[in-house]
Amino acid sequence: MQYDFDYVVIGSGFGGSVSALRLSEKGYKVLVLEKGKWLTARDFPKTNWNLKKWLWLPALRFYGLFKLTFFRHVAVLSGVGVGGGSLVYANTLPVPKAKFFQAETWAHLADWESELAPFYQTALTMMGATPNPRLEAGDLALQQLAKDIGKAEHFQPTNVAVYFGKPGVTEPDPYFNGQGPARTGCNFCGGCMLGCRFNSKNTLDKNYLYFAQKNGARVQAETEVYDVMPLATSNGTHGYRIKWRAATALHETRGEYTTRGVIFAGGVMGTVPLLLQLQRTSLPHLSEKVGAGIRTNSESLIGVTTFDKQKVFSEGVAIGSILHTDEHSHLEPVRYSAGSGVWRLLMSPLVQGRNALVRIANVLGDLI
Ligand SMILES: Cc1cc2nc3c(=O)[nH]c(=O)nc-3n(C[C@H](O)[C@H](O)[C@H](O)COP(=O)(O)OP(=O)(O)OC[C@H]3O[C@@H](n4cnc5c(N)ncnc54)[C@H](O)[C@@H]3O)c2cc1C
Repeated sequence: MQYDFDYVVIGSGFGGSVSALRLSEKGYKVLVLEKGKWLTARDFPKTNWNLKKWLWLPALRFYGLFKLTFFRHVAVLSGVGVGGGSLVYANTLPVPKAKFFQAETWAHLADWESELAPFYQTALTMMGATPNPRLEAGDLALQQLAKDIGKAEHFQPTNVAVYFGKPGVTEPDPYFNGQGPARTGCNFCGGCMLGCRFNSKNTLDKNYLYFAQKNGARVQAETEVYDVMPLATSNGTHGYRIKWRAATALHETRGEYTTRGVIFAGGVMGTVPLLLQLQRTSLPHLSEKVGAGIRTNSESLIGVTTFDKQKVFSEGVAIGSILHTDEHSHLEPVRYSAGSGVWRLLMSPLVQGRNALVRIANVLGDLI
């Protein structure tokens, strides 16, 4: 049977980019379909007040790189665009602690810690992992806190996917024997999570996806997959038809491709809703476990500021240090670039209320 592609990858974030590279290395004909735009350094906003460039909010025709999804008790942040979450993430590349590999949900299947160790190493190398060389105000405050609570040895700089080199100086690829793209030394502006405007963040388009394309993989941006239908037989033995629509066009544009295999790599906010919809329609044999066991990464974001005008909290990499407060918990100072005050809203009073409107009214009531 003839297919348009051997594999179609849905989403160009971490899962999608790694899949695209590894499949293309094996000689497969690969297509990556990405809902978001193919953004370059010029497209990224200087501060997060530039909502049109920052947010992914198609209803308002905002096609930025950052998506906020609100549920009743939790908000989910994610990246949209070629490179997915790597565009907006905080660059940190932690390897989980032993307990993670021993979790009862999967520990019985393999000795994951040793099984996965070489793959973590490969990923760290591919992403250019480097310890943050410069502790800034927020990091130093955390370091002091570590000392105050008797945990100085549990404080450390983060391992990050950033090219440090010489600040502002562009040099030929330092990571892949000169075969990768040129990189520019980080200037510690703090803007990593707005999309790096200075070519210093090692986003996926600078490594996995870059080499996948060199191997012939095609990346089609602004393309949202909405249906995956088995061809001929219902179990997918004969491949699939992938249906897509243009994600940013004013006029409805649709198309389809055939493929032998599909990689769902749309992130939790992309893949799970898609699979749940397909389970009801084109892929009824999908496991009933789809959508079960979903959890957050248990992060709490807390706004902190100071009246001390001499202190600058916005300089550095997005997350420059970490303090392991106990076996399960850690604290990290997170920063955005100067002027990115949207997150000051995090400091609004935490109020209760039946719905969003009541809560907003209660906030205003508390402020008056
Ligand atoms: C602000 C922020 C900071 C973070 N910091 C860190 C950090 O420092 N370290 C860390 O390890 N992790 C961090 N993360 C988490 C990390 O970014 C995610 O775990 C990771 O991106 C998930 O990878 P993924 O491949 O599953 O999906 P993603 O990287 O989210 O990629 C999914 C892609 O698929 C696309 N897509 C979705 N549905 C469709 C569809 N139907 N058709 C076509 N395309 C589709 C999306 O647009 C997106 O580009 C951070 C996340 C955020 C939001």
